[in-house]
Amino acid sequence: MDLRSDAVVLFGVTGDLVAKKLFPALYELTRRGRLDMPVIGVARSRWDHQQLITAARKSVLEANGRVDDEVFDALTRRLTMLSGDYADPATYQRLAEALAAARRPLFYLAIPPAVFTAVVDGLAASGLAGRGRVVVEKPFGRDLASSRELNRALRTAFDPERIFRIDHYLGKESVEGLRVFRFANRIFEPLWNAEHIDNVQITLAEGFGTEGRAGFYDRMGATRDVLQNHMLQVVALLAMEPPATAGDDAYRAEEVRALRQVEPLSPESTVRGQYAGYRLEPGVAADSNTETFVATSLRIDSPRWAGVPFHLRTGKLMPGTATEVVVEFRTPERDLVPATGGDAPRPNLLRFRLGRNDGITLSIQVKEPGAEVTGRTVELPVDFGSALGHRREAYERLLDDALDGRHLRFAREEAIEQEWRIVEPILDLPEPVASYPRGSWGPAAAETLAGHWHTPIL
Ligand code: NDP
Repeated sequence: MDLRSDAVVLFGVTGDLVAKKLFPALYELTRRGRLDMPVIGVARSRWDHQQLITAARKSVLEANGRVDDEVFDALTRRLTMLSGDYADPATYQRLAEALAAARRPLFYLAIPPAVFTAVVDGLAASGLAGRGRVVVEKPFGRDLASSRELNRALRTAFDPERIFRIDHYLGKESVEGLRVFRFANRIFEPLWNAEHIDNVQITLAEGFGTEGRAGFYDRMGATRDVLQNHMLQVVALLAMEPPATAGDDAYRAEEVRALRQVEPLSPESTVRGQYAGYRLEPGVAADSNTETFVATSLRIDSPRWAGVPFHLRTGKLMPGTATEVVVEFRTPERDLVPATGGDAPRPNLLRFRLGRNDGITLSIQVKEPGAEVTGRTVELPVDFGSALGHRREAYERLLDDALDGRHLRFAREEAIEQEWRIVEPILDLPEPVASYPRGSWGPAAAETLAGHWHTPIL
C-alpha cells in the first residue's frame, strides 16, 4: 500500500454530495483520528471560512442528529476555503500555494461531470496532478464511448493507480458482506449454481422522488443512475467465481470476469416506467421520456448460471425504500411434502437486505402443526444492526481507503466499461415510458417480467 495522503481538496464543496455525505465522513474520520491533514474546500461561490464551517456543522447535525463540539472543532481547524473559477489557471496556482507542504494530496471531484475535464486539465497544467490522487464520482460518462473518453482524460493527468472511481455500493458493509457470505460459508457454495437456483431478483426501491434534483435526474434516468453501476456491481458479487487466491486483486479480477459474461440487456426483456406527475416537476422536459423506473432480466453466459435469469428492478416513488436480493432456490425434485392448503411447493428463499436495516433471511419449510404432514414457510432472520452493532458509513470507509491508496472498494475502469456494454441496448429507447402511480411497484407490465416478484421487506 502507498503512503497515506496528506491533504484533501474537495472540489464542489458548496454542493449536495459534500453536504450529504462528505462532511459527515470527514467528521467521523476526525473522530477516529484518521484526518490529521488540511482539508481545502474549492468552489466558484465566494464562501468565507465561517460559511464553510456553518455548512459543515449543518450537514453533521443532519446526518447524526448531534455534533460533538470537540470533534467538530478539530475538523474546523483543518478546513479552509478557496474560491475560484475552474477555467482560470490562477485558481490552481493558489491551490498549489495552499498545498505547498502536501506531498500526496487527494483531489475529490464532487462537481458535475461537465466540469471534470476543466478541473483535471487545471490540475495537470499546474503540476498538482503529478503528485496527487483523484476521486471521481458516478456518472462515469453517459455510455461506453463517453466513459472511455473520460478515462482517457483522467489517465492523461493521473497515473491509473492514483484514480479512484466511487461506486458507493462497494463501500457498504452489507454489500461487502456478500463476499464473506459466499466464500466463508461452505454450506452455500455447492448450491450456488443453475442446478439449485431458479432465479435471482434484485430490487433497489426508493420511496422518494427526485428530491429537488429533477433537472439533473432528467438527463440520467434510472438505468444510468443506479442500474448501470450499483445493481450490476451487486450482480457481479453474486455471480462471480471464487478467486484463485485471497488477495484483493484476484477478487477484483473475478468480479470483472463475471461482468464480461453478462449478456447485453435486451429492450424486449425491459420495462421502463415514469411516475405520474414527473413531467410537471421543475427542470423536467414537458415531453420527457426519462425512466424513473426500470425492470429487466439478464442472463449470464457461464456454466454456473446457464438458464438462470437475474431479474432487476429499480424505481423512484415505490412503496418504500429498500435494496434487496432474493435468491430463489428450486423446489425439491419430488414433491414428498405438500404445502399446507394444497398450495404449490414453496421454494427456499435467501434474502439479502443491503440497505437500511440490513441483514439476511432464509426461508425454510417446517411442519404445519396438526394431523396432516404438510409444509409451512417460516423465516430465519438475522438483523445485522442487532447482531453486529454500529458499522461505518460507506463514504467514510471509501474516503479512508482513498487516502490510503487502497483500491479494493473502488470500481475498476474495466468493470465500468463492461457495465456500459451491458446496459447500452436499453439506453435512450424511443418507445414511450409507461406511466405508473406513485407508491406502486411500477408499470403493470413489469409485474409479469419476473414471473413473480418477491416483495422486499420495507
Ligand atoms: P451539485 O449539483 O450540488 O454541484 C456541486 C457543486 O459544483 C455546486 O455546489 C457548484 O458549486 C458547482 N457547480 C455546479 N455547476 C457548475 C458548473 N457548471 N461549473 C462549475 N461548477 C459548478 O452536485 P452534487 O454535489 O450533487 O454531485 C457532485 C458529483 O457527485 C456529481 O458528479 C454527481 O453526479 C455525483 N454524485 C452525487 C450524488 C448526490 O447524492 N448528490 C450521489 C452520487 C454521485 P459552486 O457554484 O459554488 O462552484
